[in-house]
Amino acid sequence: MLKETIHPIRSKDRFLIFGSPAIDDAEIQEVVATLKSGWIGTGPKVAQFERDFLRYKRVKHVAALNSCTAALHLSILAAGVGPGHEVITPALTFCATVNAIIHAGATPVLADVDVRTMNIDPNQVEAKITSRTRAILPVHFAGRACDMDSLLYIARRHNLRVIEDCAHAIETEYKGRESGTMGDFGCFSFYVTKNVVTGEGGMVIASRKEDIARVKVLGLHGLSQDAWKSFGDQGYKHYQVVECGYKYNMMDLQAALGIHQLKRVEDNWARRREIWQRYNEALVDLPIVLPADPEPTTRHAYHLYTILVDEARTGISRDAFLDAMTAHHIGVGVHYQSIPEHPYYQKTFDWKPEDFPNIPKVDG
Ligand SMILES: *Cc1c(COP(=O)(O)O)cnc(C)c1O
Repeated sequence: MLKETIHPIRSKDRFLIFGSPAIDDAEIQEVVATLKSGWIGTGPKVAQFERDFLRYKRVKHVAALNSCTAALHLSILAAGVGPGHEVITPALTFCATVNAIIHAGATPVLADVDVRTMNIDPNQVEAKITSRTRAILPVHFAGRACDMDSLLYIARRHNLRVIEDCAHAIETEYKGRESGTMGDFGCFSFYVTKNVVTGEGGMVIASRKEDIARVKVLGLHGLSQDAWKSFGDQGYKHYQVVECGYKYNMMDLQAALGIHQLKRVEDNWARRREIWQRYNEALVDLPIVLPADPEPTTRHAYHLYTILVDEARTGISRDAFLDAMTAHHIGVGVHYQSIPEHPYYQKTFDWKPEDFPNIPKVDG
C-alpha cells in the first residue's frame, strides 16, 4: 500500500530519475474517487482546480486546458495574432513555445538571451521589432523572472500584447507581482516534470475577462460558453458552434491530481530552494558556471538548476558529462538545445545558432 509520499529514488544503486513527480496518497485517493464518481471528463474537479489556481495566483480569470502548449496556442489566437503577424520569443526555450506561434499561423522571431540570466534580452527584443510585430512571448527561464519592466515598456510603446510562458514559473514573482499576471496572458504547465503535476495539463491566466472567454470557447471545439455547463444536472441545454475551435479541455482525472499538488506547491518550493542552496555550496569550487543568484526583487521558482559545462574550462564536453552522470545513475537533462539548433527551424526559417551568441552550444 502506498501510504507516504513516493519520493524520487534516492539510492545511487538505482537510477535517480530526472524530474520524477512526487505523488502523494491524497492525489491517488482523489483519482480513485473521481473514477468511481462516474464523471471523469471536464467537470467539478476542473472547476475546483481553476478556483484553487485563481486563489493561489490572486487573479480573476483562468481556464484549465490539457497542456501549456494548448494554453500558448489559444492565448496567441485570443490576443488577435495570426497570419502576417510576428511574435518575438527567446531562442533558448522548449520547442513548444515556438511551435505554438507557428500553429497560430504567425511568424516566430527569435531574440537572443542575456548571458547571465538566460532570459530574453529586452534590447534584442527591441532590435527585432518590425511593422508586423504584434506580441512578445517571454519565457521565465528555469523559474527566473524576466526583466518585465523593460519588456512591458517596449510592449506599451509599440502597442504589442504580452504572453508569458510560465511553464517553469508557477511560484515566480517579480517586484511583488505574480508571474503570468504582468502580461495580457500567462501560460502554465502541469506536465510530469513541472512544479505542479497533473500528468498532462495547462492553465491560462488572462488579465481581461473577454480574453479568457475566448480561450474557453476555442478550447472546446468553439462551442458557445454555456456548453461547458451543458452536461450538468441543470437540464439539457443546446450548444452552438460559434467558431472552429480545438479539443484542449482538461479532464477531472487530471484536475484530481492538480488539486492536491497545488496544496503542496509552497512546501515543494521551499524544499527545492534548500536543495538549490546545497548545490550552490557543494559545487562552488568546480570549474563550471552555476546559475546566477535570483535578482533581489524577484522570487525564483527554482524549477531547473542549470549548470554550464564549458569544455574549455571544465576539461570535459557537455555530452561526455551527460554520459558520466548517467553512468553514475543520476538523471540529467539539457535545457535546452537552442531553437536554431533543430533541423526543422533551420530548414523553415534559415535560423543559425551562431546568430545567437549568448546561448551556450556545443561546437561541431
Ligand atoms: C514544458 C514547457 C512547455 C510545454 O508545456 P506542456 O504542458 O508540456 O505543453 C512550454 N514552454 C516551456 C518553456 C516548457 O518548458
